Order: sequence, then C-alpha cells, then structure tokens
Amino acid sequence: MPIHVLPPDVASQIAAGEVVERPASVVKELVENSIDAGARDIRVETRAGGKQLIRVRDDGCGIPAAEVELAFHRHSTSKLTSADDLTRITTLGFRGEALASIGAVSRVTLDTRAADEEVGARLRFEGGRVIERGGSGRPPGTTVTVEDLFFNVPARRKFLRSDRTERRHIDAWLTRYALAYPDLRLTVSHDGRVTFRSPGSGALRDVLIAVYGLEVGAAALEIVADRPSADITVTGFVSPPSIHRAGRGFIILFVNGRWIQDASLTYAIVQAYQTLLPAGRYPLAVVMVHLPPADVDVNVHPTKAEVRFRDGDAVFRAVQRAVRYTLLERAPVPPASVQPAAGIESARRDRLAHLAPAARQLGLAQPASVGRGADIPLESGAEAGRLPPLRVIGQVRATYIVAEGPEGLYLIDQHAAHERVLFEKLLAERKRAAVPSQALLEPRPVELSPEAASLLTAHRETLASLGFRVEPFGGRTFLVRAVPALVADEEPQQVLEDLATALELGDEPLGEQIAESVARWVCKRAAIKAGQVLTVEEMEGLIRSLEQCASPRTCPHGRPTMIHLSVSRLAHEFGRT
Ligand code: ADP
Ligand code: MG
Repeated sequence: MPIHVLPPDVASQIAAGEVVERPASVVKELVENSIDAGARDIRVETRAGGKQLIRVRDDGCGIPAAEVELAFHRHSTSKLTSADDLTRITTLGFRGEALASIGAVSRVTLDTRAADEEVGARLRFEGGRVIERGGSGRPPGTTVTVEDLFFNVPARRKFLRSDRTERRHIDAWLTRYALAYPDLRLTVSHDGRVTFRSPGSGALRDVLIAVYGLEVGAAALEIVADRPSADITVTGFVSPPSIHRAGRGFIILFVNGRWIQDASLTYAIVQAYQTLLPAGRYPLAVVMVHLPPADVDVNVHPTKAEVRFRDGDAVFRAVQRAVRYTLLERAPVPPASVQPAAGIESARRDRLAHLAPAARQLGLAQPASVGRGADIPLESGAEAGRLPPLRVIGQVRATYIVAEGPEGLYLIDQHAAHERVLFEKLLAERKRAAVPSQALLEPRPVELSPEAASLLTAHRETLASLGFRVEPFGGRTFLVRAVPALVADEEPQQVLEDLATALELGDEPLGEQIAESVARWVCKRAAIKAGQVLTVEEMEGLIRSLEQCASPRTCPHGRPTMIHLSVSRLAHEFGRT
C-alpha cells in the first residue's frame, strides 16, 4: 500500500482512542470540564454503565453561543494560548482534545448557556459531524449528553465490560473528584437511582464520611504539617493505625487538584506507617500535594494520570514527613509521666513491689488500683490509635485475654501484646542510654561461626546499647560480660548463639534498623508465651501497659495484638440491628 494521509474521521477516531478508553474516561473528561468552568453543582447520570448514556450537568460559566462548535474541534481550548502557559497551568484540562474525541466516537448533545448571554446554544454531534444546531432556554451552565459510546467503533465496543464493572470505574473517578473538591456538590445516579451524593460543605471529612462511612470518616486523622514549607504543602487525611486495608488501592493522591498515580509517593505514605500496621496491610489516605505549577509537568500523558516533578525527592520527603508527623502527633509516644526516669521508676516499683509481685516480674505496669494514678491522663486512651481503658474479663486457652472497653469486646494475644509493651519500653530505655543490663558473675566464652562472629563485631556498639556486653577473645571466640536484663534468666551462651544465628539467617533486615531488629528479637524472647496461665493481676498489668503504648494494636513484627469486636458488630452478628 502506498503511503497516504488518513481521512480526517479515521484519524480522529484513532486519536480519540487515547483519551476515551471506556465510559469512565468520558465521565472524567466531562466532570473536569465542569470543574474548570467553576461549577459548584454537578450532576452525573448514566445508563447501562455509561454505554447507553452519560449525562453531566453543571452550573458553571457555560460556553458562549458563538464558540460551541469550536469547542468540538481538536486542539481547541480556552485554557491555554502558548506552550509557555503549560508551566502556569491551573486547570484540569488544557489539551483541547476531550470534546473532539468524545464527539468522534459517540452521539453528543451539548446544551449550554454562558452566564452573560440571553439565550443558550444547543448542538448535536454524531460521529464527528454536526447534525443539528439551535438555541437553548436553559439556565446558565452546561449539559453534555453522550449516547451510544463507540457506536461507530465496534472494536472498542467489544472490549467494554459488564455494566457493573463500567459503573465501578465511573464511581472510582467520581469519588476522587468528590474528595479533591469538597466544595463541590456532586450527585451521581445510575439507571435512574441516586447512588452517591457529596455534601459540598467544603469539609473534606464530610466527603470521607459520604464515601467511606462514618466509622472510617470519623476516625481519619487530618494531616498536620510539622513545618509547612512555602513551596510544597501537604494536606488531607490518613487513617489511624487501627484502620487498614489489604491493598494500596485506598491511598489516593492529588497534585494541584489533579488525581495522580505515583508509586513513589504511595510508598512514602506506606513507609510512614512502618511498624504501625500488620504485615501486608495498608492505610487509607487522601493526600493532596500543592506546589507551584512550574514545579510539576502534567503533560506527560493524555489522561494526565501521571505527572513529573522537578524535584521528586523533595515531594517524597514532604509527603512522608507530613504523614509520619501526623501519626506521631495524633498517636504520640507515651508522655513522660508514663515513663518516669529510671531511678524514680525503680524506686516506685520497689515501693509497690509487694502489691503485684508477678506483674513486676513480667516487667509490666502496676495493676489499675496503683499504677493508674493521677499521673496517667485517662483521655490519652481515647486518642486515635491509642487504646481506651479496658477491663479484663478472663483468659482463653492460656493464650488470649478477653477484655471489655467502651467500644466493645477485645481479644488480645498475650504474647504479641507483651512483645509490643517490652519493645516500646526497651527502645525508650535505649534512647536514654538506660537499658537494664545483667552483668555475669563470670564472663563466659562463646564460640561463633565466622559469619556470626563478623556480624557481632560489626554491631558491637549497637548490641551494647541494648545491654549486651561482648568482647572479642581471639578468633571466633567472644566473652559475654553482660546481657539485657530481659533475658537474664537464660543461659547467656545460648542467648548469644541464638541471636547470632538469627542475625545470620537474616530473619530481620540488617543495616540501619539493626538496633530495632535486635530489640525485636530480645522482646520476642522475653515476652510471655502462649500457653502461660496468667493471674488477673498479671493480665491487668499487661493491659495497662498496652494502653500506654504508642502503637498498641500491632506487635513489633507487624502482627495484630488484638481483635476488636465493636458494639455495632456484636449487635449486627446477633441480628439486633
Ligand atoms: P480542554 O478542557 O482541554 O480545554 P475540551 O475538549 O475538554 O478541552 O473542551 C474544550 C473547551 O470547551 C474548553 O476549553 C472550554 O472552553 C469549553 N468547555 C467544555 N466543557 C465545558 C463546560 N462544562 N463548561 C464551560 N466550558 C466548557
Ligand atoms: Mg477538558
């Protein structure tokens, strides 16, 4: 075949394929146009998953009657005049392709009236051609109706999925716009039934409640920046560590009001939750990044779902810091009164020793009657992420503690919970360089494998900060002089050999987190085990200590410490709702 220029309708159908992939892409483009037009009220209506009909009606600025036809030309836009403008773009659209593309692959009716014109205009388009024009008596604003999508592109039509699937894609986009624009009143109806309404109150939390329900919406933490930077601001909401999902799909990102997908920023958010969530679980987040338009290139892809940052690292850091800071701020490390200085603590412990010998032995807080004095603010339990005060009911299979709280029933894994308690305590002690260490009466020699020996040598200082005093004694032999008090009742040789093996086998990531890895290892070893019968006193001590933890809901390895059955869940299970 000789080279020839494609007829315009073929060319435009091909081009349309880039912008219009499925009904949801039409909805996205039309809603973006409405937002760009300054609309406050947008109504979206679909039939048969958008395959039969998509209608978007807005109360925006409208299109002047003289310009309606132009709006359907490819590369015609009112949002940009020079390539230079791209660096200043603040609208969602700018490529001037959407209406042309939609018009090329469906039957479109445009009904519009500019605010300052007496009569509006109406235009019908079919497969890229105007088939009817006239006036319109509508109030200011625009309605675009798209029927029979891909009626002239059977290949595309074949690839559309079930109505339900297409509707799901449409809803995903609409949810994003509702979240990104809390001022917007967005009403969605499918096949004649209203399925979603965003309140348009201007408060993001109201939208969260509309989208995710009251439980998540009310618990979400508003992002607070520790030091707001002039260039990059991060706002939005993140879930407290107690609420999580199986995938990253609930992490939603916007840059300058535009929804984007960005693996790196998603990772920044996930990482901010490190050690706070069970393994394989992810937070919910709605994070909005605002930065000067010149610092972000939105013209990377026709659908604009990817952007390029001039300084990606700075954006990454800003997002991670803001989220991490919010989590720490809202679920803070225990206040000083809960962790008194070592001296005071031991003096107090001695004084209280006779009251709770067992709890003391376990390294736990004192039972409620004594420990929960004036110095522990009760409200702290009510903060997001923290535990409310719980009442111990009993123990199941010598493994789980059953407790009751204001929000229902809690089943607590005693081993995991104790690991968490010991872990936070140990790290706090390490920070103060006050980890209790048990010196051996006689130093013990231990011979290790070459690998274990070199690991031990490399990390000697870290180990010392956690209570291990180990000295090289020629070759692969080391002298153990002291071990952390937490494991003092074990054979020191055994402890060291096991630790070396654990490090060697790389159960834990080494490197920067070596101290935390070793701390986790020690705490796992020292924590009460499953199958250990506890007295009520001991259980209470454990629960009190857990209440004081910054991250009580997971063990240091990321597994859950507890299962919470809320009052409403119980009512639901018993058919009381
Ligand atoms: P773009 O949004 O990239 O400019 P479109 O093809 O989506 O390109 O729209 C073309 C032009 O039509 C827009 O620049 C705008 O001037 C006008 N327009 C489209 N939809 C609306 C609307 N809902 N309200 C007002 N003007 C609109
Ligand atoms: Mg547009």
